[in-house]
Amino acid sequence: MQNSWQHNARNTLKGASSCNDFFQSNQFEDQHFPIKIPLEFANLIDKNNPDDPLLKQVIPSENTQSQPEFSLSPLGDEDNAPVAGLIHKYPNRVLLITSRVCAIHCQYCFRQNFDYSGHDAISNWLAIEDYICSHQSINEVILSGGDPLSLSDEKLQDLIDKIQRIDHIKTLRIHSRSMVVTPSRITDQLIGILNNTKLNVVIVLHANHANELSNEFANVIQKLVKITLLNQSVLLKGVNDSVLVLSELSLRLFDLGILPYYLHMLDKVSGAEHFLISDERAIQLHQSLKKNLSGYLVPKLVRDENLAAKTWV
Ligand code: SF4
Repeated sequence: MQNSWQHNARNTLKGASSCNDFFQSNQFEDQHFPIKIPLEFANLIDKNNPDDPLLKQVIPSENTQSQPEFSLSPLGDEDNAPVAGLIHKYPNRVLLITSRVCAIHCQYCFRQNFDYSGHDAISNWLAIEDYICSHQSINEVILSGGDPLSLSDEKLQDLIDKIQRIDHIKTLRIHSRSMVVTPSRITDQLIGILNNTKLNVVIVLHANHANELSNEFANVIQKLVKITLLNQSVLLKGVNDSVLVLSELSLRLFDLGILPYYLHMLDKVSGAEHFLISDERAIQLHQSLKKNLSGYLVPKLVRDENLAAKTWV
C-alpha cells in the first residue's frame, strides 16, 4: 500500500514498557538513548531467544559504566561543519545532515548524542548551495542523518532536484538503514525518484546480520535499477563476530545484488561498551573471511576517524 511506511513509522515500538510487552520479557530498561524498534524489524526477532542478534542491537546495555576511551561523540562530527548541516572532510565530497530522525535506534550508534540543533541541511539549503557552488572540487553529495529516508518522498525529490541543478555534482550517495529495517519505506514513488535522477546514485545500506534481510526487502530492493548498492556493517560482539555469520551476510547481500563494502570497527560511544571486540579478534575474523569468500565479497575492515573510514587491514 502506498505510503504504508508512514503508517508503520507511527506504529513503532518505543520505550521499555511497550518492548517488554511485545517481546513478553523484562529485558528492556529505558536508558539515555531512547528505545525505538520498527515493527517490521521486531517481527524478524525470535522472541524465544534472548541472544537473538537483531534483538541485541536494539536493547540498551544494563551496564552504563563508561570505559576510558569511550565518549559521547567519538568522531567529533561537529568540528567539521563549515556550514550548519554540511560536513566537509575530503575535497571531492560533502555530507548533508538531512534529518535527525531514524526508523530504528541502534544502541551502538556513534551519533546517538549528536547535537542536531542547528544542523538541518533542508532549512539551511541556501547557505549549503552557496558553499557547494564555491567549491568546484566537490563532485559528490552524501545524504545522511539520522536517516535521510525519514524525509517524505516529496522532500527528497525537492532536495535531489536542487542538488542535480549544481553542474559539478555528478554523484548522489545515500546512507540509509531504513531500507533494511523498514522495507515498506521503498515506495514506488521513491524508486521512481532514485531511478530517474540524472545523477549517479549510490546507496549504502546498513545491515549487520543476514536475518535482517527479509523477503519483503528482497522483493523491493531489486526494483532499484541503475543504482549502485553497497552495504556497510558494524562489527558487534554477540551479533556478527563470527566467520559464519559474516560469510552468510556477504552471500545473502550478493544474492540481492548488493556488494559488501565496509565492516566498521565499533566507534567508541558511551553506552556501547558491550559491543566491542578486540583489534586482534577483528583482524583474525577478517583474515578468515578472506580465506572463505571471493575477494569481492569481503568488506574492507575500517575504523572511522573524524568521519573518514580508514582502511585498516
Ligand atoms: S539508523 Fe544509523 S544513524 Fe540511526 S541510530 Fe541506527 S546507526 Fe545511528
